[in-house]
Amino acid sequence: MEQIDGKAIAQKIREDIQAQVRQLTKPPGLAAIRVGEDPASAIYVKNKRKACAAAGIYSEEHALPASTSESELLALIDRCNRNPNIHGILVQLPLPAPLQARHILDAVAPEKDIDGFHYLNIGKLVAGEPGFVPCTPLGIIALLRATGVHISGAHAVVVGRSDIVGKPTALLLLHQHATVTLCHSRTQDLGAICRQADILVVAAGRPHLITAEMVKKDAVVIDVGIHRLPGGGLTGDVDFEGVAPHVRAMTPVPGGVGPMTIAMLLANTLQAARAV
Ligand code: NAD
Repeated sequence: MEQIDGKAIAQKIREDIQAQVRQLTKPPGLAAIRVGEDPASAIYVKNKRKACAAAGIYSEEHALPASTSESELLALIDRCNRNPNIHGILVQLPLPAPLQARHILDAVAPEKDIDGFHYLNIGKLVAGEPGFVPCTPLGIIALLRATGVHISGAHAVVVGRSDIVGKPTALLLLHQHATVTLCHSRTQDLGAICRQADILVVAAGRPHLITAEMVKKDAVVIDVGIHRLPGGGLTGDVDFEGVAPHVRAMTPVPGGVGPMTIAMLLANTLQAARAV
């Protein structure tokens, strides 16, 4: 079994981005907006800004109190939309109630929507037109490409239908000419469907949902899930030890999809800066 080294693949992409940023006359700029005191969100934004700094991308953080009103948040987004030094805007989710994520995300200028969450970019993804695509699904496709997996004609099974991971991943695989099956919590006989997969992408948020008897011999397995173990450390949605002997290639957790998500955020920010 080949262990797909997301950390190394992401590092290579980040170095390429750094080299491209050096060629620009003006650095790309990212505004990260965070509302409330969610500790995980604070860590995610910190890591994204650290990656920006390493790539030569300017970043600024707007950390607002949980009491921020919708009109205050929209006014900040409007300022970022009009700021010529800012090319990408990310609104870290989740937003505290009563803020409505959909309303806020659609206020970001589509050409600065580096998370690909604006309705216009969702529509472009469905239509197969160029636009911004969410970072984790982009990272999954980049991992498959770097591993030399033939997507065209393969049967790809995606477990999980979230707007952030499952659905956009299924669409990207479809645009790459895979035959796609999208599974979710009401899918019947998940094992029988997963056993047909040449490419199995698991984003269900259920630790060790996928076990050895649910995979086809020689499948390529991408594990998106991230779960904290009670004794420390992380694990995924796939029983790595049990599945490993049966498949051709698989991502570990940590060190698989996670590092790719940040690399793709940098790639999207560079893409936004180049388009100006
Ligand atoms: P989500 O909770 O929004 O969606 C989970 C999906 O899985 C749902 O569509 C649900 O129907 C499906 N599902 C749940 N239980 C199932 C079951 N028993 N059988 C089949 N389908 C089932 O989650 P999400 O935001 O898509 O995230 C999924 C996982 O990926 C989480 O563990 C999350 O932490 C992780 N994640 C990782 C990254 C990364 O960068 N590595 C990014 C985003 C999410």
